[in-house]
Amino acid sequence: MSKVVVLGTAQDGGVPHAGCKEACCESAWKDMLLHRYPSSIAAVCEESKKFWIFDATPDIKHQLNILNKYKSNLSGIFLTHAHIGHFAGLTSLGLEIMNLKGISVYVMPIMEKFLKKSPFIKSLINEGVIKVRSISDKQKISVGPFLVEPFNVPHRNELSETVGYKVSASMGSIVYLPDIDAWQGWEKKLFSLVEENNYLFIDGTYFKKNEIKKRNIKEIPHPSIYESMKLLSCLDSNGKNKIYFTHFNHTNSVIHSDPSSGRLVAEKGFNLLKEKKVFKI
Ligand SMILES: [Zn+2]
Ligand SMILES: [Zn+2]
Ligand SMILES: [Zn+2]
Repeated sequence: MSKVVVLGTAQDGGVPHAGCKEACCESAWKDMLLHRYPSSIAAVCEESKKFWIFDATPDIKHQLNILNKYKSNLSGIFLTHAHIGHFAGLTSLGLEIMNLKGISVYVMPIMEKFLKKSPFIKSLINEGVIKVRSISDKQKISVGPFLVEPFNVPHRNELSETVGYKVSASMGSIVYLPDIDAWQGWEKKLFSLVEENNYLFIDGTYFKKNEIKKRNIKEIPHPSIYESMKLLSCLDSNGKNKIYFTHFNHTNSVIHSDPSSGRLVAEKGFNLLKEKKVFKI
């Protein structure tokens, strides 16, 4: 059975967030059970005992532990972009920690250049820990029972391009799109992705943009869940039910004790992605 397992649902810094002394992280600092890992998913094939992960986060050890029950091995990593929460997990693969060999790391061309500039990544390549595999927009890559297709996404691309991924298997497909600046100009593509896929895990970084008080939100643009629900309100209930928001910032009220925003998402017919949730595809 081919499945996708959710490994993380937070923004790059996870929850609680480094340096946060505000109320948003107070309970998570006290209670490990309220921790959330940065956005990542795994495509798992139990028959071949292999899995592939999408993004390699700083919390990769906990996320790989979620997969231990499938008794399978890491076979490859698909990276979305060069922001720290999406690739820093590569630091766990080498001699100092996991001592892996021959792990395929699938990357777009600018991301490949970015990685290869790092002496650390070069040493992972030279020691045979990872094999960097160059991919391109809309290329279909076959791994085990899965077909993986990257597609370009507008995001503040100062270090690399950004992609989302479509992951298909015999029973269906999911879309993994944790980071995008805005849906404006991209609405058509979003609606066709809803049409063509069974589940979409999309950028839900903020609930409302006014939750960001200490930073200039123009420097860290993402659509808010509130805006996205408005844009997608014309979908029928089946379409809305395909949508799962993810990549939650530590300020996002859907992950905090005030249940009203989470309730609103459910009332409008949409979903919030949860760690360890399994989707059969
Ligand atoms: Zn991110
Ligand atoms: Zn916080
Ligand atoms: Zn990003």
